[in-house]
Amino acid sequence: MYGDVIIDISLEKLDKTFQYEIPEHLRETVQIGSRVVIPFGNGKRRITGYVVDMSTEPKIDAGRIKPILGVSKDSIAVESQLIALAAWIRRNYGCTMNQALKTVIPIKKKEAGKEKKTVTFLLTQEQARDELSTLLARKRHSQAKEKLLRTLMERSTLPWEDITGKMQIPATVIRDFEKNGWVRIDAERAYRNPVPMTLEKERPIVLSPAQSEAVSRITQDMEAGRLGTYLLYGVTGSGKTQVYMELIAKTLADGKSAIVLIPEIALTYQTLMRFYQRFGKQVSIMNSRMSPGERFDQYERAKKGDIRIMIGPRSALFTPFSDLGIIIIDEEHEPSYKSETVPRYHARETAIARAKMQGASVVLGSATPSVESFAKAKSGEYTLLTLPDRISGRTLPTCEIVDLRAELRQGNRSILSRRLQELMADRLQKKEQIMLFVNRRGLAGFVSCRACGHVIKCPHCDVSLSLHRGDVLRCHYCGYETRKPVVCPSCGSKYIGGFKAGTQKFEEVVRQTFPMARVLRMDTDTTRGKNGHQEILDAFRRGQADILIGTQMIVKGHDFPNVTLVGVLAADLSLNSSDFHSGERTFQLLTQAAGRAGRGDIPGNVVMQTYQPTHYSILAAKDQDYEAFYEEEIAYRELMDYPPAAHMLLILITSEKEEEADRCAKALADLIEEKAPQIRCLGPSDAVVAKVRDIYKKVIYCKHKDYEQLIEIKDRVAQTIQADAGFAKVMVWFDFDPMNQA
Ligand code: ADP
Ligand code: ZN
Ligand code: ZN
Repeated sequence: MYGDVIIDISLEKLDKTFQYEIPEHLRETVQIGSRVVIPFGNGKRRITGYVVDMSTEPKIDAGRIKPILGVSKDSIAVESQLIALAAWIRRNYGCTMNQALKTVIPIKKKEAGKEKKTVTFLLTQEQARDELSTLLARKRHSQAKEKLLRTLMERSTLPWEDITGKMQIPATVIRDFEKNGWVRIDAERAYRNPVPMTLEKERPIVLSPAQSEAVSRITQDMEAGRLGTYLLYGVTGSGKTQVYMELIAKTLADGKSAIVLIPEIALTYQTLMRFYQRFGKQVSIMNSRMSPGERFDQYERAKKGDIRIMIGPRSALFTPFSDLGIIIIDEEHEPSYKSETVPRYHARETAIARAKMQGASVVLGSATPSVESFAKAKSGEYTLLTLPDRISGRTLPTCEIVDLRAELRQGNRSILSRRLQELMADRLQKKEQIMLFVNRRGLAGFVSCRACGHVIKCPHCDVSLSLHRGDVLRCHYCGYETRKPVVCPSCGSKYIGGFKAGTQKFEEVVRQTFPMARVLRMDTDTTRGKNGHQEILDAFRRGQADILIGTQMIVKGHDFPNVTLVGVLAADLSLNSSDFHSGERTFQLLTQAAGRAGRGDIPGNVVMQTYQPTHYSILAAKDQDYEAFYEEEIAYRELMDYPPAAHMLLILITSEKEEEADRCAKALADLIEEKAPQIRCLGPSDAVVAKVRDIYKKVIYCKHKDYEQLIEIKDRVAQTIQADAGFAKVMVWFDFDPMNQA
């Protein structure tokens, strides 16, 4: 056996490994992540390194490979744990060890830290007076020396910057003082801290019975050394964040650290302030706008134990706490927890793997749990904890569904239903605010009937077909194709076609209908620039507009007390995506949108306009009934073998030559069918976007209940591609339980 050993864990050097032999007596102990002692250079030096990979093949002449001398017994470095996690990621999601290492050690590069130096005076007043008189006795003495000496006699420590800056004394003078033994110079790395530190203390809170129950259940398990995964299920405003904070307090009291993952879009100032108010300087944050240097500082501070709580999006999961006690994932259903680049890891599963390695607990929180997590909670794999009520006791808003087919029949061709217009007029007159949400997700060219709502679906996969050039409808899972019908197959109407309307179009209609209203629009066009997004929300919160129109961006994590009406303009658009998650996404979006209404003292109204008023996702969202939604959705997943009923592996094959991509995809599909007939294999077919920048993309979907079987397929496919010179120009990627279609 041989081990690839890395000497220095800084990103630039991750590629540079050295191969060592693992001697017989160390075979049992050495693992990926082990910190080992090795001979280096001419063989006399001994240094430590980390084993990042193992193999049976020597890369150079086996006689020249030196043996590992031993396993380092010092305290287990957090690097070891992260390297072991990288190995787990490689195995479970498919990537190279290097890609996995770069994911878990996500420092761009070591930036020179800003050094802060202080100068401390070492002489007694008496000695100082002597030196001063000696100095003054000289005919042409240095003014700078005199000035520094006199200042130091008054103040015994001075920042270096002040001496060379304000006082305009050259650095050489300070160095001379140091040589004379008059002063000591201390350097301290100045860590850039992104947290503003002007705070009032939080007011004390008494937990509600449901909150206490959740907290004590988890802390009892912690005390007994039982480490579990908990699903905290409670509507927005039910006090989940408060529960997280209690659990963090307990974790800190036990001398451990905490990681809190929050989707970037919900990482608002208000949320962060609550954590700072309670935990002060022990908290740090991470976000994608930080410079590599700032991130590096945060990691260093975490490693040194200067901070104990890290809050951030997906990548904050890899904060190098060696004493990790808890990982909290808020809004655990968010698709952004799945990486869209290789390795395509899911933060939830990876958090659970890290927690197991480091003896930590995992708490998942959501008002609309992912179907995956709720299924695990039902089966007992996770512990389900429920917060049934809003803390304020405020009632949920009144939701109603408007049938757009009926509007059309009754002659209203506007995209604003009569009921919505009526309520809008009422709120404008009362000077209350309105949010209009345009559900634009998954607008990829489905075909539906405006008269009866019928959507054309794949007969094999039960997802919408997508419209392609030449009026071809295609399924993105199995490749089924058919021609676009001219009349609705369900009702015979000729109003059948693609649906195209963006936020801009809606804004026009709203301005025409209510010319006096002040309207703000928020979508990717209006939020370019660093803070565009925040500025629009702030302006709306301050009451500078009556109506805010936007995409999903406006429904997440924002609290607007004066909003009493939420209109969902086309609630079913997201139902028609060609992805099997469409029912789940629709339910989540509608529930979140509804949650925006009536958060202040006035109860709210929600109007959901739709062509599919009887779809279970829409009915359940109207009643804010998660469990009703879940029962329908899990039945669909089980019927169709979609996750969590089975696991799914997407194999993406790309090449500059279409013929090559085709040949490879067919060969792989044949291979899977031959070697693993128990796997359900769909495709090969064209990817959603079949050609990007002259690269052709083909997909194969594999389904099986046992994840391990899919890992085997992945490894076999990777080997086949590597071994066959005919596929040298083909690239193959893997995506386990994909959240989006390729
Ligand atoms: P969630 O995270 O589920 O949306 P929060 O924890 O943010 O809920 O709670 C909603 C609001 O209720 C917050 O303003 C919070 O400060 C307040 N709150 C939470 N728990 C309590 C409590 N036990 N007593 C009083 N107020 C509370
Ligand atoms: Zn029809
Ligand atoms: Zn299909």
